[in-house]
Order: sequence, then structure tokens, then C-alpha cells
Amino acid sequence: TTVERDLKAAIRTIPDYPKPGILFRDITTLLSDAWAFRRTVDEMVQPWAGMKIDKVAGIEARGFILGGAVAHQVSAGFVPIRKKGKLPHKRVSIAYSLEYGLDEMEIHEDAVVAGERVILVDDLIATGGTAVGAVTLMRQLGAEVLAACFVIDLPDLGGADKLRQLDVPVRTVLTFD
Ligand code: IMP
Repeated sequence: TTVERDLKAAIRTIPDYPKPGILFRDITTLLSDAWAFRRTVDEMVQPWAGMKIDKVAGIEARGFILGGAVAHQVSAGFVPIRKKGKLPHKRVSIAYSLEYGLDEMEIHEDAVVAGERVILVDDLIATGGTAVGAVTLMRQLGAEVLAACFVIDLPDLGGADKLRQLDVPVRTVLTFD
């Protein structure tokens, strides 16, 4: 669509960042454009407009920016999923796979109550390691994961398919092959 084309044009691509051979998709240029930011958030929530959503969970760090705007849009609370060691209260942790090796993410144990309906938000899904970890964390707290929303899908890396295999509906605004 023309909207998808225009939003795609608002994303900057940086070659060889953070490592040689990697094409980094930089959304700071999309966030700084008033029309593009608003339209992206509208597109992310469109399938869930009008549904009762208790919490939006944003993944550090760009998932905080998008997730805060999404939470406002759907009248839900916002809860952060953070890298290890950043949250002050009692937390639950999960190890998740990165491209090379493992990392750990955490959420406050009282961030969601069992049975709450949650939408997960991040800027980009690649291999899905990060998002699968976040879904697992949410489900450990008893949350119902209604959907996972991303601005960018890299479908060749298979992450969105992994989430669908876990019965999580996936919404992405645009795709880079
Ligand atoms: P995954 O776990 O392989 O799906 O990688 C997704 C995570 O890495 C997300 O938290 C993204 O923010 C980050 N990420 C990976 N590649 C990019 C990129 O090109 N631009 C921005 N974020 C990226």
C-alpha cells in the first residue's frame, strides 16, 4: 500500500551496524516524523481496536517508546520487560537466545495478574528469540497473550512464524526481505 511504502521510506538503513555485514533498520527517523509515528501506532493496533486489553508489555528499549503510545491508544496499562538487573522490585527472569549466545530479560512479578489480556510490543522481529522469551515470561505470570505487534518483520529469519506456532497472532506494519 502507499502507506506502507511511505512508512518504509521513513526508516533509515545503516550498513555494517553494529557489526560488518548487518543492515541495521533504524526507526529513530520514523519516530521523529509526526505523521509516520502516529500512523505506525495506528497500524500496529488496528486489529485490536475496541477490544478490552489490560496491559501492553514493551520490550526494552524501543518497545518502550512504541508500547507507551500503543497503551495510550488502546486505554491499557504499560509494563516494561527489561534487560537483567534494571528492575527494582521482585521480578521473574527468563534466558532467551540471541544471534550469538544467551541473554536474560525480566519483568516485575506483579506487572500482570493471572488472566489479564496482554499485547506485546517491540520495534522489530528477526529470529524471534527476544519475542518468544517475552511470551514465555508473560505466560509464566498467567497472562493471556492476545497478540504481538512490531513495526518491522524480517520474514526470512522466521521469528513471526515461531510466534504463530506458539498460538500468538502477529501484527507487523512492514517487511524487509
Ligand atoms: P530477534 O530476537 O532475533 O527477533 O531480534 C529482535 C530484537 O533485536 C529486537 O529487540 C530488536 O529491537 C533488535 N534488532 C535486531 N535487528 C535490528 C535492527 O535491524 N534494527 C533495530 N532493532 C533490531
